[in-house]
Amino acid sequence: MSDPTRPRAPRIIAVANQKGGVGKTTTTINLGAALAEQGLNVLVVDLDPQGNASTGLGIEPTDREYTTYELLLDDIPLPEVIQKTDTENLSLIPATVDLSSADIELIANEKRSYLLHDALRQPAIDEYGFDIVLIDCPPSLNLLTVNAMVAAHSVLVPLQSEFFALEGLSQLMMTIREVRQSANPNLRIEGVVLTMYDARNNLSQQVEDDARSNLGELVYRTVIPRNVRVSEAPSYALPVLKYDSASKGAAAYRALAQELLSTYTKTAA
Ligand code: ADP
Ligand code: MG
Repeated sequence: MSDPTRPRAPRIIAVANQKGGVGKTTTTINLGAALAEQGLNVLVVDLDPQGNASTGLGIEPTDREYTTYELLLDDIPLPEVIQKTDTENLSLIPATVDLSSADIELIANEKRSYLLHDALRQPAIDEYGFDIVLIDCPPSLNLLTVNAMVAAHSVLVPLQSEFFALEGLSQLMMTIREVRQSANPNLRIEGVVLTMYDARNNLSQQVEDDARSNLGELVYRTVIPRNVRVSEAPSYALPVLKYDSASKGAAAYRALAQELLSTYTKTAA
């Protein structure tokens, strides 16, 4: 596509929340797929040793020869680690359980917080013409997540529509502030997205009200409903947009992509 409103350098977004099970991986895969469906060229970086984003996008562990571990610690160049997925316009740097030792191995490295930043700024990345890079972070505020925040332009925070959803958010915000003060002064909060929203449940409404009154404009208008098709899709190794294109989950992720892109054109202008 040669749309002049499209960005030149990829916009790098870290999908982060140190709580597990809040929808980081689901959002990375499906927002990625929705952006790809819009014609954007998307790269997903799996930065979680659990490798759920890799599995969900159909890259089996046996097909993960080079992974984010090699990218960060062995200087394996980007062209070796980037793989195409079955979804058009959607590529992946996979992860395996090997990455679980990286956090400790990184400590002795003086560039420990900058490894992903440097890897994603190799001249080779330009050749792929990526518009957006989405980094699926582990459920922790460890060095891997810090690498993601140092590499990123912004952080997208999935918030599960459950009790205690906002708990832990201050810790996440503190980490973002620390990264701003040290390595990445321009790091923005891309937005906060409510996930697994159940309109029939008062609690979801309450969490939404709390989030909107505490975080205001940062909270996307789009909420992602709890939808069984969304949870089934990974076992078919597909984004929900391909597994059940007409599902409510697919529609919600399309709306989220639209909302994200609308802020992008504004800030790019
Ligand atoms: P995280 O990456 O933050 O640990 P996941 O994206 O893996 O969280 O989601 C946790 C679980 O919740 C997974 O089993 C996933 O399939 C399920 N899930 C996530 N979003 C939805 C949704 N909108 N509707 C139904 N199930 C969901
Ligand atoms: Mg995950």
